[in-house]
Amino acid sequence: MHYKTIAELSLALQQREISSAELTRHMLQRIGRFDDRLNAFISVTEERALAQADEADRKIAAGDAGPLTGIPIAHKDIFCTQGVRTSCGSRMLENFISPYDASVVERLQQAGAVMLGKTNMDEFAMGSSNETSYYGPVRNPWDTETVPGGSSGGSAAAVAARLCAAATGTDTGGSIRQPAALSGVTGLKPTYGRCSRWGMVAFASSLDQAGPMTRSAEDAAIMLSAMAGFDERDSTSADRPVDDYVGALGNDIRGLRIGVVKEFMGDGLDAGVATSVQTALSEYERLGATLVEISLPNAGLSVPAYYVVAPAECSSNLARFDGVRYGHRCEDPKDLEDLYKRSRSEGFGAEVQRRIMIGTYALSAGYYDAYYLKAQKVRQLIADDFRRAFEQCDLIAGPTAPDTAFRLGAKADDPVAMYLSDIYTIAVNLAGLPGVSIPAPMSAGMPVGLQLIGNYFDEARLLNAAHRLQLATDWHRQNPGGF
Ligand code: GLN
Repeated sequence: MHYKTIAELSLALQQREISSAELTRHMLQRIGRFDDRLNAFISVTEERALAQADEADRKIAAGDAGPLTGIPIAHKDIFCTQGVRTSCGSRMLENFISPYDASVVERLQQAGAVMLGKTNMDEFAMGSSNETSYYGPVRNPWDTETVPGGSSGGSAAAVAARLCAAATGTDTGGSIRQPAALSGVTGLKPTYGRCSRWGMVAFASSLDQAGPMTRSAEDAAIMLSAMAGFDERDSTSADRPVDDYVGALGNDIRGLRIGVVKEFMGDGLDAGVATSVQTALSEYERLGATLVEISLPNAGLSVPAYYVVAPAECSSNLARFDGVRYGHRCEDPKDLEDLYKRSRSEGFGAEVQRRIMIGTYALSAGYYDAYYLKAQKVRQLIADDFRRAFEQCDLIAGPTAPDTAFRLGAKADDPVAMYLSDIYTIAVNLAGLPGVSIPAPMSAGMPVGLQLIGNYFDEARLLNAAHRLQLATDWHRQNPGGF
């Protein structure tokens, strides 16, 4: 049962092959049995899940069910969930019980999805390996000595090991797509503003975007249909209608022009990953798409620009965690200065502190123009590169990550090596475009992601192209052994 996609589970629920209560208990049992090996969950919300499942079963019985009614999912622990701890992977929020649900959580709940729990993540979504979590690293189900990617590593591992039907993630510089690639699942980062950020703990507000992590592009379309939409509580959410993502999955892709990024296929790309991505691209040609070579000349500036913009915005967003209003507070502060200093030193881990310091420096008087403003200009150049590329093609393709999953600890002491994990994903965030990672053929037994990038709000075409490949291949259907 747990091997089924959302689309298949939904059918089984409608046809009464299984009830949502049974399915939910089955998934909870799997979490109980396997999560010790993965550490994918920070909280399991059994009671809430079973209550929601009963409610879903009533809706199904009344003939009032949608495609997500009764489907057990998990939320990245960055999304506020009413009455449930929302830790954001940090000691800072270890005891924070959110008084409200994030917009994305609320929407999925209204669509009938059942919440199994909250998934592990890099602290405040800063990382590419899920090793910066205060709650310990997550392990990759394909090889538990390796990382699942990050920062949405818990969601990726949980979906890959079939501990939930799907999960939510967030992507600021690659945190949905890169873990999806390393863990062998489908992960979509929508256009900036497509999903509301309300109730999502802010990291870098001009980049953060929520999206689904699933077993198929079809499932991503189902999830996105529920998650997307204007929200007046988030002034950056896009006030435009949500397309029919599921309906668009029937479209033919003959004649689709896929731009292959020249700069992403050369130096720095692992040979096995390159072969796998080439195989996936050839399959697209076989399906009638045409490949055109495109260039993103400024893509090489994306990692340096991001590591000014993201820390700058993080330093501002994380200023609210001061030990006064909420979050961790140190014991017996001597005075106010001591209270701030110790609460923040104890509450935040090393990577978060590093980012706050870099960001504070980049924003300080005298350096703002040299760093932050300059990075914003580079960001514009990158967006212009994409605009020009989309004059020659309908979608852009390339690898999601330069390598397959690396061993735990391999990059933990080398922040720059870690930052380069997102070398192919970050430009997409800087430009605000949608991107999806889908499984390509495995390399040496480990998953590889093919990244497809769409034009603004072109998620329907993007998901359809991903779906077409998945109809023709079974790369997304591989399962890790032992789960
Ligand atoms: N790995 C990148 C970082 O550490 C991206 C993280 C993310 O997308 N949340 O900032």
